[in-house]
Amino acid sequence: MLLVRKYLEGLVSLFYPDFCLACNTSLLGNETILCTFCRHTLPVTGFHNSPGNPVEKLFWGRIPVVGATSLLFFEKGSKYQSLIHQLKYYGKKEAGKFLGRLLGASLQDTSFNDAEVIVTVPLHKAKLRRRGFNQSDVIAQGISEITGKPVLSNVLRRKTNTKSQTRQKRYDRWKNVEGIFECSKPDLIKGKHVLLVDDVVTTGATLEAAGGRILEADGVRLSIATAAFVN
Ligand SMILES: [Zn+2]
Repeated sequence: MLLVRKYLEGLVSLFYPDFCLACNTSLLGNETILCTFCRHTLPVTGFHNSPGNPVEKLFWGRIPVVGATSLLFFEKGSKYQSLIHQLKYYGKKEAGKFLGRLLGASLQDTSFNDAEVIVTVPLHKAKLRRRGFNQSDVIAQGISEITGKPVLSNVLRRKTNTKSQTRQKRYDRWKNVEGIFECSKPDLIKGKHVLLVDDVVTTGATLEAAGGRILEADGVRLSIATAAFVN
């Protein structure tokens, strides 16, 4: 049976070869998501072991975090942005799992490994229905596969749908997300070190709003990790 499946998969990939999500060259048999070259040139931030890194600084004076970090730099027009675009807009969950597993592996042997549970930033119900899945859940599942930490995707709830943030200024973004989350299951995270996960961090406004609600649970410590940092 397995052989037949392998044969059929081989046949399918002959007609529909997979392409590298970054550079678009066709992938070889042992490559998935990215070609070997793009895998080796991923723009990793190296922030995990750097207290005071630019992602952590976004939260200074706003919410108390144990640490904050991102796996990759996403500069404007970066070929790697398609990893997130494929996940978010084309439903390619494997791209998100891939990023999550990379992030999970890179967090091991860092202070982030001290976190006990993973909490994700929820989408509004209407958006979740439209998209069919939450991209931060997919990334969190990838982290969980590597680290074994449980993903709690029902701790936060998004009360209102926000307009797209891409065209807004920093202050407007902050105003736009203030008060949009509530912590509906504080008992699940009480006394725990929580790793809050999202796909991308830009100004940190959404994560600040979500993190603020998490910190309302008793005795919680908060760390933040995203797949990408857009600066
Ligand atoms: Zn490539």
